Amino acid sequence: MNKLSKIISELSYEELKLIKKDLSEGNMENLINSRLKSFEETKGPAICPICNTQINDVENGALTLFFGEKDFRRKATFDAVDCLEEFISHLKRINEKKIRRGNEDNGAFRNYKDI
Ligand SMILES: [Zn+2]
Repeated sequence: MNKLSKIISELSYEELKLIKKDLSEGNMENLINSRLKSFEETKGPAICPICNTQINDVENGALTLFFGEKDFRRKATFDAVDCLEEFISHLKRINEKKIRRGNEDNGAFRNYKDI
C-alpha cells in the first residue's frame, strides 16, 4: 500500500477526481482484473513448490493456498495434500524462528492462520 499511497500523494486534484470516478464506475477493478489475468496467463502451468510437479489442470484436484500479509498476499499451488502439509510445516518453522528472534513486526508469514 505504501507504493500506492505515494502515487496518490503525487496526483493533482483533477487526476484524483478522475480516479475516484473510475473507482465508482468499476473501471479500476476491471483494469486490475485484466492486469492480474495477463500475469496469470503468462506464468504457465503451476509448479508444486515441494515436489516440483508440474500442475497442468489447476482447477481439477490441485490445492491452492493464499498466504502472507494482507498487503502482500502470495499464492502457492500443490498437487497433493502431503505437499500442502509439508509447506504449512515449513511456514510454521519460519514463523517460530521469527518469533524466537523477536522480529514480530516483519513476519511475512505470520498471518497465514487468518486466511
Ligand atoms: Zn507436490
